Amino acid sequence: MTDFDVIVIGGGLAGLGTAYRIAGNLDVLVIERGKTPGSKNVTGGRIYLKSLRKYAPEIAENMPYQRKIVKERFSFLTENEGVTVEYMGESNSATVIRAELDSWLAERVEEKGGIVASGVRVDDVQVEEEAVRIVAGNDEITSEVAVISDGVQSPAGKRAGLREDFKPEELAVGVKEVIRLDEDEINTRFGLGSGEGLANLFAGYPSDYLQGGGFLYTNKESVSIGVVVNLKALALSDVELEQLIERFKNHPLISSVIEGGRSEEYSAHLIPEGGFDAIPGLYRDRILLTGDSAGLCLNTGITVRGMDFALISGIIAGDVILKCMERKDFSANSLSLYENLLSGSVLNEMRKFRKARYFLENRRLYENYPRCSTEIMRKIFDVDREHLITEIRSVLGEYGGTLSAILDLLKGGRVL
Ligand SMILES: Cc1cc2nc3c(=O)[nH]c(=O)nc-3n(C[C@H](O)[C@H](O)[C@H](O)COP(=O)(O)OP(=O)(O)OC[C@H]3O[C@@H](n4cnc5c(N)ncnc54)[C@H](O)[C@@H]3O)c2cc1C
Repeated sequence: MTDFDVIVIGGGLAGLGTAYRIAGNLDVLVIERGKTPGSKNVTGGRIYLKSLRKYAPEIAENMPYQRKIVKERFSFLTENEGVTVEYMGESNSATVIRAELDSWLAERVEEKGGIVASGVRVDDVQVEEEAVRIVAGNDEITSEVAVISDGVQSPAGKRAGLREDFKPEELAVGVKEVIRLDEDEINTRFGLGSGEGLANLFAGYPSDYLQGGGFLYTNKESVSIGVVVNLKALALSDVELEQLIERFKNHPLISSVIEGGRSEEYSAHLIPEGGFDAIPGLYRDRILLTGDSAGLCLNTGITVRGMDFALISGIIAGDVILKCMERKDFSANSLSLYENLLSGSVLNEMRKFRKARYFLENRRLYENYPRCSTEIMRKIFDVDREHLITEIRSVLGEYGGTLSAILDLLKGGRVL
């Protein structure tokens, strides 16, 4: 007889997703090392809702979101110039604050009868023939099955023998600051109505022209702003992440919209971006791996999907556990249903964009195109220029020529 049917390690979106799905049907305990769920979690702040509506409609409809995104901007930045394209319309995404969202979901889990133990760190996971033994300090508890949702570094996933460390090129590191501003001020500065939000992604200067970029998302009464850089590219450079966010905040395009704001949160975190090819083993006897611990995060350069994938993989893990409990079989063979079900959702999305990771290693995307596009725009608006076509040809020539630009465009079109 085990202490619980299910123990979930990590109370982020993946872990809470599983607990939400099974609480009320089975005895479930979530162990979270943060003081409260969400206190240790970092995210840019935009959650995609389309797939979530299919797998967890009640979460998608009721979760506390900040603003629904109605404006998408993409900007190429150089030191003091910028070129921005803007789209206005439905994007099926919303901004969220993790401390708020994770705590809300933990409360829903507890309402349904699950237990969320915060401020407790799991130190070891031992798979035995009849149970899984979880060690936290001097305590040991057992369950029929354990779900490992302890995030990108996943010490528990490694202890359970399902994965190794991700390689530096399969990781990015992100730094984020939340800056408080009045709601009306945000609406005025970004041209938004009540409840409407903006997502702005940036390439070029924010990451010091390295693989990565910047982001700005509007919340109700704050903006989330940050820089993300591939870990290997950062290690080979001579810049520091803290330097990059400071410089980004001082860029004229950013300083003007955060002026007078008060910094209220600063955090840094790793992001798995190895894509489909870096996904480790997802199950073994009595164990499932979900969310970032399983590398289930997709960066296409334009969209980052970690939060909805975490929730969906957690919910699917919950479905699988309910099925396996009916047949009283938590062998690897029985739990392999998890990979089958994920193949129809998160894994399918990740397989579709499998080559994006390799395309995004192209330095021209972060260096040549931001510099080239700002130069071309400067020429277009310069009254004192030669013929436009001659000017554009000369700028394109300087940054690698028209052919390489066309080839990059075609390659990007194929993989993104
Ligand atoms: C800067 C940045 C920007 C991002 N932007 C976006 C975005 O805009 N949109 C998007 O969808 N995704 C984004 N992501 C990715 C997204 O945040 C993650 O994919 C998502 O949070 C993964 O959720 P998770 O539950 O798997 O892991 P986490 O949120 O990391 O949760 C893991 C939990 O496990 C707990 N834990 C760890 N070890 C232990 C232990 N030993 N014992 C007990 N508990 C433990 C942690 O405290 C944590 O609460 C971003 C990430 C970063 C860093």
